[in-house]
Amino acid sequence: MPDCTKNFNLAQQKEKIKYKLDVRALEKEELGRFLANLQEKPYRANQVFHWVQARAVQSWQQMTNLSVTLREKLAANFNLVPLKLMKEQVSRDGTRKYLWELADGELIESVLLFHEGDYTRKRTTLCLSTQVGCPMGCGFCATGKLGFKRNLTAGEIVSQVLDLSTQFKINNLVYMGMGEPLLNLPDVLKSIKLLNHKEGQNIGIRRITISTCGLVPQIEQLALSGLDFVLAISLHAPNNELRNQIMPVNRQYPIEELIRACRDYIAKTGQRITFEYALIKDFNDSLQSAKELAQLLQGIKANINIIPINSINQGLYRRPSAQVVRRFVSFLQEKGLAVVIREEKGSDIAGACGQLAGR
Ligand code: SAH
Ligand code: SF4
Repeated sequence: MPDCTKNFNLAQQKEKIKYKLDVRALEKEELGRFLANLQEKPYRANQVFHWVQARAVQSWQQMTNLSVTLREKLAANFNLVPLKLMKEQVSRDGTRKYLWELADGELIESVLLFHEGDYTRKRTTLCLSTQVGCPMGCGFCATGKLGFKRNLTAGEIVSQVLDLSTQFKINNLVYMGMGEPLLNLPDVLKSIKLLNHKEGQNIGIRRITISTCGLVPQIEQLALSGLDFVLAISLHAPNNELRNQIMPVNRQYPIEELIRACRDYIAKTGQRITFEYALIKDFNDSLQSAKELAQLLQGIKANINIIPINSINQGLYRRPSAQVVRRFVSFLQEKGLAVVIREEKGSDIAGACGQLAGR
């Protein structure tokens, strides 16, 4: 028999949250304005913001320095809905993957990575999702295979951090989970402002990276956002012929336009850009490709991250040998480019780059 209770509960849940604002998505000033409308003193906004964004409380009852009457008033006007944890997996290397259920029943994943394999050092990075699925259809990416369901709200993005922050001190964020962040720009930018807020999680702005497959108009918009996060571009190929084969976005915004947008971005912001290049065996791993890549990025303030590809499903795209990876990297280094090989983490729990599929 089908399980109707789940749908019934979900319907109830949806109904309950429909008409109220998500308190986790409110900036302090917005909260202040809403509370003023409810005849509350301005300092209440500081208190509530602190409980929500710094202490990451899961319920109104936990806001112990507020009167019961005020807590009831807040509960009547705002939603405070933590994500529902469905599954936590721990990789051999310590990486943790979280499967969350959203209020409407959709599933997303986040990945927590510990540097130097030891989380007592408190150098942790959370890889965040920004959409349920992704419409961009890159051939090598498991999220792309899901298709697109919907954008996440700012509250749902922030919640991925908040709901883990009571257990872990998170000090780096990468917007590299499920989805294309630049297709969800207003909510992504709002989540960054909230997570960077001094009275909230206070995550340094240069410790926040947004990765995009290369949407040119949105990159132009980002250059004007006034937020100094790190921009990463998923390049993955040194010319249009190769890039067209693996990234449909390249037909809309070919490499020349993308690189021009990157140059403009650097000129406007003064910041370096990170270029991600997934190395695929016998596809983009030749010395000729390395040479073209070096030419393409000539004179650009760039950091290059080489990611030996993580295979998904049938493994149509394979990883080159360690020797080929080293040859590729050495060539770029000899040309004076700043290159690192991105450490693989969490692949045994399908938590590595491109493996997230909300299962
Ligand atoms: N949509 C954004 C961010 C999410 S993907 C983007 O594409 O940039 C995060 C990174 O993982 C991107 O650089 C993406 O190209 C890369 N990636 C996707 N599938 C991969 C795979 N199978 N192996 C290695 N990297 C992959
Ligand atoms: Fe979407 Fe990024 Fe995956 Fe491409 S690589 S399908 S843009 S999540």
